[in-house]
Amino acid sequence: MKKYSIETSAVHAGEPKEKVCGAVNFPIFQSSTYLHTGESSYEDIKYTRLNNTPNHLVLGEKLATLEEGETALVTASGMAAVSDSLLSFLQSGDHMMAQNCIYGGTRDLITREFSRFGIEVSFLKDLSRKTLEKHLKRNTKVILVESITNPLMQVENLLEAANFSREKGLVSMIDNTFASPANFKPVSIGFDIILHSCTKYLNGHSDIIAGAVIGKADHIKKIKQRNLHFGATLDPHACFLLQRGIKTMPLRIKQHNENAAALAEFLNGHSRVKKVYYPGLPDSGGDEETKKMFSGFCGMLSMELNNASETTRKFLSRLEIPIEAPSLGGVESLLSRPSLTSHSGLSAWERQDMGISDFLIRVSVGVEGTDDLIDDFNQALQ
Ligand code: PLP
Repeated sequence: MKKYSIETSAVHAGEPKEKVCGAVNFPIFQSSTYLHTGESSYEDIKYTRLNNTPNHLVLGEKLATLEEGETALVTASGMAAVSDSLLSFLQSGDHMMAQNCIYGGTRDLITREFSRFGIEVSFLKDLSRKTLEKHLKRNTKVILVESITNPLMQVENLLEAANFSREKGLVSMIDNTFASPANFKPVSIGFDIILHSCTKYLNGHSDIIAGAVIGKADHIKKIKQRNLHFGATLDPHACFLLQRGIKTMPLRIKQHNENAAALAEFLNGHSRVKKVYYPGLPDSGGDEETKKMFSGFCGMLSMELNNASETTRKFLSRLEIPIEAPSLGGVESLLSRPSLTSHSGLSAWERQDMGISDFLIRVSVGVEGTDDLIDDFNQALQ
């Protein structure tokens, strides 16, 4: 089949040629159950929790095409994608490795829930071979990384992590929520399982919670089993909204990339700003070779002000365009302090170990006009 650009795939992939009642847009199949037509296995029965309604199938095909994976599963949230996937390859007595600085909810899940089931974890400060070798154990089964880490925006040596996993027979998982498939395709460097919080850039309008898992058919089959049993399936109406949101994802990402790059550059040179965390800046750390595989770094940046304990609240209250709220990836600029939002479930010690200061500000740069955003940050800094 012809391979189209991501812009074309976002609009057309998965959409059936034969239009339902002539409707250009695929309708919402708002039915929890369907006629039994002799299906013999549980998974084949048409029932919305079993993740197999027309809305799930169309969306799954679109997502698989965008990430260039074999197949995809849509889930009720990003966390459902993460937990269903990890629990498909880990059981009591197993060990996993994960990057140290990742989304707080994922870290909470691994440390606070998995320990109750006898699953051990080692956190990795970087993805060098030396660090990976040091933490590998006889019972290690999975490695989990983020393509751009939340909230310090590090792009680490992802190729090393994927190669190491393959050599050692581990299942490699990557959360590609921040980068989005428009900027980076983890399948291209050999990751087994791609995870998304579709709540963010894939949907792009801050109006649904959804997740996805993309990978080889045998892996996804296993993960689907967990999803059916744990029950975190997306409802058809949210499937419809996500399908619609994805169509403009590549266009939105271009503007997010441009806006964040321009804002990061402006903030980086400002006398009131102590530090900017954005992978596109010189000396931003991480792995330069891996960064070359990205076509952009999305709309995420973090920053710290000088005299942060006194200036942060004042600065946030003076900004006019961004909305102070958790989450990210929507068309509107949002900002939040991870210590009070995305990473508030962690202990102060854990945040310190990850390098997240109490006054770190995470900005999800939206698709507003670039100059409007820079002017607004400038006046708030003054
Ligand atoms: N992965 C990353 C990188 C995130 O930032 C988030 C949420 O912020 C999640 C996963 C979880 O997504 P959801 O809120 O859709 O469950």
